[in-house]
Amino acid sequence: MEETNFDCRHCVFNKGLYCEADGDCFEGEKHGNKEVQTELSVRDIYKMAIEKWGREEQTNLAIEEMAELMQAINKTRRYPDSLKARDNIAEEIADVSVMLEQLILIYDCQENVEDWKERKVSRILEHLMKY
Ligand SMILES: [Mg+2]
Repeated sequence: MEETNFDCRHCVFNKGLYCEADGDCFEGEKHGNKEVQTELSVRDIYKMAIEKWGREEQTNLAIEEMAELMQAINKTRRYPDSLKARDNIAEEIADVSVMLEQLILIYDCQENVEDWKERKVSRILEHLMKY
């Protein structure tokens, strides 16, 4: 499925469908004239979650998941050989990753985050070369 235009809130959020009306489909006006895909992308699902539970709730959940990851990391320090603890870290990394993607949507900062990541990684490389 190609990149979804989320201006079409009627279709994406209320029906869980992707509409190719490109933002012109408010209240389903032009919905009937456009082809609709039923396959949802991960991004569609994040958008629907934000719409359903709200920005504040999803932000709180992000904070909660980050705390759970910290706890999981601490646990592997206490039980370094525990497979269960390692699996728990993987689960919590997945949770945080899912919530970070939603935070990016909530704060509408995808490009800014990509810019920062690029800068941060360059900086790591600089430090690697220097020391
Ligand atoms: Mg969790």
